[in-house]
Amino acid sequence: MCNAAALACLERMGQILPMTDRRLTPLAQSLPATVPFVAPERLEMERGAPFDARLGANELGFGPSPAAVDAMRAEIDRVWQYGIPDAAPLIEPLAAFLGVAHDTLSVGEGIDALLGNLVRLYVGQGDVVVTSDGAYPTFNYHVSNVGGRLVKVPFDGDHEDPTALIDAAAAHGAKLIYFSNPNNPMGTVHTAETVTQMIARVPEGSLLILDEAYAEFAPADCVPPIDTDDPRVIRFRTFSKAYGMAGARIGYAIGHPEVVGNFDRLRNHFGVNRIALFGAVAALNDQTYLQDTLARVAQGRARIEDIAQQNNLTTLPSAANFVAIDCGRDGAYARAVVAELAARGIFVRMPNVAPLDRCIRVSVGLDGELDAFAACLPAALEAAAATSS
Ligand SMILES: *Cc1c(COP(=O)(O)O)cnc(C)c1O
Repeated sequence: MCNAAALACLERMGQILPMTDRRLTPLAQSLPATVPFVAPERLEMERGAPFDARLGANELGFGPSPAAVDAMRAEIDRVWQYGIPDAAPLIEPLAAFLGVAHDTLSVGEGIDALLGNLVRLYVGQGDVVVTSDGAYPTFNYHVSNVGGRLVKVPFDGDHEDPTALIDAAAAHGAKLIYFSNPNNPMGTVHTAETVTQMIARVPEGSLLILDEAYAEFAPADCVPPIDTDDPRVIRFRTFSKAYGMAGARIGYAIGHPEVVGNFDRLRNHFGVNRIALFGAVAALNDQTYLQDTLARVAQGRARIEDIAQQNNLTTLPSAANFVAIDCGRDGAYARAVVAELAARGIFVRMPNVAPLDRCIRVSVGLDGELDAFAACLPAALEAAAATSS
């Protein structure tokens, strides 16, 4: 009797608090509730001490232009005001800077949000999307969220493979093709000529996403000219990386007006906060600071390469603000290196699929942070070798 009552009670609870909330759409029920990125702050809480070097998230440790900081400080006093849905204060100078028309630009809460909106616009349940195995995971997350089907092609010699991506898109009738140049997590880059040839081969019915989160760091001949008459490609850039404003959340899309205009169908119109908006304007206007940043980042890359070399490790050529260090063994070893570095106060990340995961990914940081990395790496390598053999 007791059991029957308990069972009835459990049953009722099951209806009130089901394991999976049956009010969710079937698609939402099929999705795991996860936080795909573990924040360094979380890791610091777990280890009970702050990191000495924050080199894992491709942030700009030098911070944004002082002019951008001033603009954001000033804007705090107006934070009671809503943002500006058409982002006109940024669109104007951005259009002038890029030499494009206003209606070829759309501003959003970072590339991440823009990618999510693009996927919602173009991908329905079962639609195919092509990307590279090991490329930017946030994009994959958005595709899964709408029930899209991801087709992944392997990297080729630590580069994304334009030919294989286009071939797969043609073979599967893909709606979207994701390509980043330079790419994360390897930092390698293709020439503008290669990218232009890739755009020319985009199959009918597909849209090429050209993620240029790191374009500012890349050699000029790796950034194809912008052609907003071409509806086959949409490009994304951000203030998170070279402009040092990752926490502000602001990025933009460049493309054909009819493609870019689609964001207005479903974007979060007040998603970009006004502090970020005016910070971005000031950051864009301080190109002297950007050039200074690019020089410092190039020095930092050389320093990371040097540190790797001193430990008998090779590096991949990088066109971004991070360097992939080849640890020379398998993913388990590289994972152990990441863990041993973390235990010594150094936060880095790594690619998540083989064979890319033989590498660790080290972002350029402040001199003191790279000093700390250099000091800890030999012991971390040694400890990793002891645990993973
Ligand atoms: C960092 C990164 C982004 C994210 O940019 P946000 O503007 O901060 O959302 C997008 N794509 C790639 C390849 C990145 O590495």
